[in-house]
Amino acid sequence: MAVIVKKFGGSSVATPDKIMAVARRVLREKKPDDKIVVVVSAMGDTTDDLISLAKAITDKTYGREMDMLLATGEQVSIALLAMAFVELGHEAVSMTGFQAGFTTNEMFNKAKITGINTDRIWEEFNAGKIVVVAGFQGLTQRGDITTLGRGGSDTTAVAVAAGLKADHCEIYTDVDGIYSSDPRVVPDARRMKEITYNEMLEMARLGAGVMHPRSVELGKHYGMPIHVRSTFTNEPGTFIREEYTMEEKEFVIRGVTHDTNVAKIAVLGVPDQPGIAYKIFSTLAAANIDVDMIVQSVRVMDKHIIDMVFTIAQGDVPQAKKIMEKLNSQMDFSGLKIEENVAKVSVVGAGMLGNPGIAAATFGALADAGINIEVISTSEISISCLIDSSKVKEAVNAIHSRFFPA
Ligand code: ASP
Ligand code: MG
Repeated sequence: MAVIVKKFGGSSVATPDKIMAVARRVLREKKPDDKIVVVVSAMGDTTDDLISLAKAITDKTYGREMDMLLATGEQVSIALLAMAFVELGHEAVSMTGFQAGFTTNEMFNKAKITGINTDRIWEEFNAGKIVVVAGFQGLTQRGDITTLGRGGSDTTAVAVAAGLKADHCEIYTDVDGIYSSDPRVVPDARRMKEITYNEMLEMARLGAGVMHPRSVELGKHYGMPIHVRSTFTNEPGTFIREEYTMEEKEFVIRGVTHDTNVAKIAVLGVPDQPGIAYKIFSTLAAANIDVDMIVQSVRVMDKHIIDMVFTIAQGDVPQAKKIMEKLNSQMDFSGLKIEENVAKVSVVGAGMLGNPGIAAATFGALADAGINIEVISTSEISISCLIDSSKVKEAVNAIHSRFFPA
């Protein structure tokens, strides 16, 4: 007997035909003893449509009511999929997040799972049923419906797999795995057979939009490998796990990502004194603005003046602008520039630790393409370069072909 969790995203259940196809596929692969949970998202663009409905009523965010609304999307798909299984001759039961035992905190719209009680799922397993669970939702202690943030069905799937100590957790999607770069940008992008949780998290942080990052964190926390694969083929996709099990070591770099949701703030002519960086970044932090790359450079040594450049998300620009202008009036910078025409390209790979050639190869690829690097930042497993946003595609391809020669 194996306990298997399979998650199908919105595009895989977008129409009644597709829902039937999902049910057929699950049944075709099911061994008689297998205990199966199928987690589904809302059909197609349902969640976006529900958000538009709310926007037609109000510009405000009503956390609780919004979750009440959004959670209905998944309730539609679970009911239909359960009916599809029964139509095809297999017993099945649908469960909302709370029926499946999910409790969350009270952070509406981005609730965190606080616990999962799988008793009811086991009851249904023992009655021979396939259990269809609504992704993306849970219930607070007080009994309010919550959602886990956009794309949260992945997190539901990994959490239920961890709670059941499942043998497999499979995420079915319209791409057939995790690629070394976004295939829409890099035609030569390669599918990875394996990637570690840390690399996947770093790729997500640096712009790759494949998996809901919290699902990967949960997988890592519980040691639950996640198999990302195609809804349309039987080929294995990519395993996200703690360590490599296959020798795919020829690729030190696992991914080249990009992020255009970046803005650059340059503060010029800041007095070179203790406490200045603290003042700027603590004021931004108090407004909940995440600062990413930071560079401080000595400009005119004898005048004790420095320049500082850092990046934030574009959505934070209006607020950051206000804060920086206020600081400017207090501290009298000689210049303040905010630019949104920048982008970040990054290489990610756990193997770069102790591999100094990686930074040189990255910069060399950009140099050969004639692309200027404005800011550089590194982590243990990544190197990021801030460049002109009009050069993103070129930059990603140049770096990718350096590390993944054809
Ligand atoms: N339906 C939700 C969304 O579109 C959750 C998900 O798809 O994972 O964000
Ligand atoms: Mg969706």
